[in-house]
Amino acid sequence: MSPSRLVIIGADAAGMSAAAQARRSRGPDDLDIVVLERSSHTSYSACGIPFWIGGEIASADDLVARTVQEHREKHHLDMRMRVEATAIDAAASTVAYRYVDSGRTGSLEYDQLMIATGAERITPSIPGVDATGVLGVRNLDDGGEMLAALERDPQHVVIVGGGYVGIEMAEALRGRGLRVTVATSGDQPMSNLDPDMGVLVARAMREAGVDVHVDARLTHVLTDAAGAARGITLQSRTGTTLELPADLVVLGLGVRPASGLAEAAGIAIGETGGIQTDASMRSRSHPNIWAAGDCVETIHRVSLAPTAIALGTHANKQGRVAGTNLGGGHATFPGVIGTAATRFRGLEIARTGLSEAQARLAGFATYSTRIESTTQAGYLPGAEAITVKLITDVASRRLLGAQIVGGTGSAKRIDVLATAIWNSMSVEAISEMDLSYAPPFGPVWDPVLIAARKAVDAVAARNT
Ligand SMILES: Cc1cc2nc3c(=O)[nH]c(=O)nc-3n(C[C@H](O)[C@H](O)[C@H](O)COP(=O)(O)OP(=O)(O)OC[C@H]3O[C@@H](n4cnc5c(N)ncnc54)[C@H](O)[C@@H]3O)c2cc1C
Repeated sequence: MSPSRLVIIGADAAGMSAAAQARRSRGPDDLDIVVLERSSHTSYSACGIPFWIGGEIASADDLVARTVQEHREKHHLDMRMRVEATAIDAAASTVAYRYVDSGRTGSLEYDQLMIATGAERITPSIPGVDATGVLGVRNLDDGGEMLAALERDPQHVVIVGGGYVGIEMAEALRGRGLRVTVATSGDQPMSNLDPDMGVLVARAMREAGVDVHVDARLTHVLTDAAGAARGITLQSRTGTTLELPADLVVLGLGVRPASGLAEAAGIAIGETGGIQTDASMRSRSHPNIWAAGDCVETIHRVSLAPTAIALGTHANKQGRVAGTNLGGGHATFPGVIGTAATRFRGLEIARTGLSEAQARLAGFATYSTRIESTTQAGYLPGAEAITVKLITDVASRRLLGAQIVGGTGSAKRIDVLATAIWNSMSVEAISEMDLSYAPPFGPVWDPVLIAARKAVDAVAARNT
């Protein structure tokens, strides 16, 4: 009997986690696994691209966890690189594809299909956006293009978008000695933090010589006679415009699920634009189609609303869940709480759960508290400032969200608070936790405990 066939579209975090996991329980005689990938790369860390651009990593090869050859030899995967899936016929169980280089087309039958197409960059429809010198940072090819552009010695770099990609790129490019401007349409950089925490990030960026413009929406990319970027125009909410010189424009305006292929095939898409799956990562509309990673929507465990948060942590876990089920086992994905961390030079930035605005939208009455402390015992020379903000549900005193901005040793403290939110802990319970202490790692009352204690007191005062 010939083996059944699993076709996977997309060969990065979600797709390759699924392939490796399915292969663990089903050998090549039992399951033929064909992977279609339109780029030249597989199993690469997009997360490492800013550090490659910044010169901390010497080569793109260092960002590749496993090569195409290794997948072929180790996991017996039929890797078809530079092959783009162009259509899914769910009724006939076939995928149409096209070789990117030759244009040759074909079609492949599947028993099970896994969609792991990731996310696509949000590109505004504005004049000049296609100009030479306007670049994104999504994959290794983008990284290579960026490095080539930097060799042309740009004088003014404008990064549009103040999310974590924008911030990491600002660090990378400023570190190369370039004049860098960051423009965000939000009130502060890092719009997944509350503005009173984002302002700390903006301050650090300005102190490092980055020009930060808030409430500044990109409306035009100005071009020269050769069609290359020479400037941009920004507009505030009140209509004030500002023109800035820019010979390199980095678009970091966020991403949306790359679900167009699935949508065209009639596969269920949710309100976030992501593919709808059940907890086993099986499509809600088609039992032999699976999906994982940035292209799907999942459940936010605090708001209980559908959400699409593009993070490698989710993509790897979801891929593993899908692969376990495709291999004949049983696994479920429990949802997300949006835990993420980033860095701008020495400043660590982290968040989990709901921000104030997200909590309001989800219908919670919240109480926010902020504390300032130090990352080590205050008497040590390496002690740096840390700010911890907690967002608490007034009614239940449950922690809904947390944000941390501070020096070395700050960001990973978010994991304690993420664990607390994951387990629906109250701020009282968090304040009583037995956390470690030694002077090089924190003050005797860890900032997490101080923050929880302040939230307990504040909520109690409010409720009396
Ligand atoms: C600059 C940057 C920094 C990041 N930093 C972090 C971080 O610090 N922490 C974190 O958790 N996450 C981070 N992320 C996000 C993380 O990289 C993504 O969430 C993760 O890569 C998603 O994995 P995925 O497999 O779902 O999608 P992708 O990695 O996007 O892979 C999808 C693959 O599908 C291929 N594909 C798409 N359509 C087709 C088609 N029709 N036919 C064939 N192939 C197709 C694409 O070429 C791509 O290789 C970062 C992302 C970027 C861009």
